[in-house]
Amino acid sequence: VVALAAGENLERLSEQMLEFQPQCVSVSRPELIAPLRQRVPGYAGEIVCGAEGLLALADSPASQTVIVGLVGMIGLAPTLKALEAGKKVLTANKETFVAGGHLVAPYLAQILPIDSEHSAIHQCLKGEPPSALQTIYLTASGGPFRTWSAQQLESATVADALRHPNWVMGRKITVDSATLMNKGLEVIEAHWLFGLPYDRIRILVHPQSIVHSGVELVDGSVLMQLGAPDMHGPIQYAMAYPDRLELPDPVSRLDVLGLSQLQFEPPDTARFPCIRLAYEAGRLGSSATAVLNAADEAAVALFLAEQIRFVDIARLIEETLARHVANGVQPAPDLAEIYRLDDWARQTVSALATQSPSGVHPR
Ligand code: MG
Repeated sequence: VVALAAGENLERLSEQMLEFQPQCVSVSRPELIAPLRQRVPGYAGEIVCGAEGLLALADSPASQTVIVGLVGMIGLAPTLKALEAGKKVLTANKETFVAGGHLVAPYLAQILPIDSEHSAIHQCLKGEPPSALQTIYLTASGGPFRTWSAQQLESATVADALRHPNWVMGRKITVDSATLMNKGLEVIEAHWLFGLPYDRIRILVHPQSIVHSGVELVDGSVLMQLGAPDMHGPIQYAMAYPDRLELPDPVSRLDVLGLSQLQFEPPDTARFPCIRLAYEAGRLGSSATAVLNAADEAAVALFLAEQIRFVDIARLIEETLARHVANGVQPAPDLAEIYRLDDWARQTVSALATQSPSGVHPR
């Protein structure tokens, strides 16, 4: 390990600095540098910060592989930087594909997915030529609101949304799993990673989270990847690829005989409109998916701050997307234009959230 970025988690970062002695580390804000130095007084390496710090780490000449576990749009620029520097990139940052899929597409040969669904698809396609792929089946747990009625969803709270049945994840992605926008973003991610048109990428709601995703090949054979719902598997697969390493000890293995029942059902796009919005944005093109992503980040932040209701998340995204379509969709915006659209979408969401006529009700 030659470099580490850790956002604000100084406790964990200082432990890892002592263990790995990296040449450089990055934190999210300049105010965190002094307290970090206090925690690791003998550290001889460099400490950088912010978006610039991430860029510096991404093309650090000492590294061959960059693992991107950033959440949100902030992952796009350092991912591009690492790809341009010729590095192998293992990424769990779906926003890179959602906001800038056309920018990373030329570098696909350098990219391995860590997102569990895309890791599963990658494993199913190992050794298959691209022409063999017919359909992608992307599984979704259905989130905490899978069985809630539309009426119940009207009063869903932040605590309800953060209660994910199978996976332990950060707050933003957990809310995205509750709206099913996470699955919508993953459809767009799969479109870019595996080069399939949207009508051949299908979502299966699978509440057990045992089948991580799968593919149908042109000859009708269906392959699916199973495993315990634990991110150790996908991370290790990407790091070891093309080899396979033994799973470390405390990580649970899947008890196949213990699988009593695996259910699959289609997603309900009436209760979970974010899925429909993601497909619509994907078919419109890259400026629309960049807007979708930014509007979602802004709306989820407002929901987590208890300023809007759960059901307002999709309404705000839909209205913002409609305004973007009226302004004109662009198939291949450059990085500067993506940032401009990102800003515009966030501002539009916050403006809409304070207006009642759109049907959004502030608390
Ligand atoms: Mg996933």
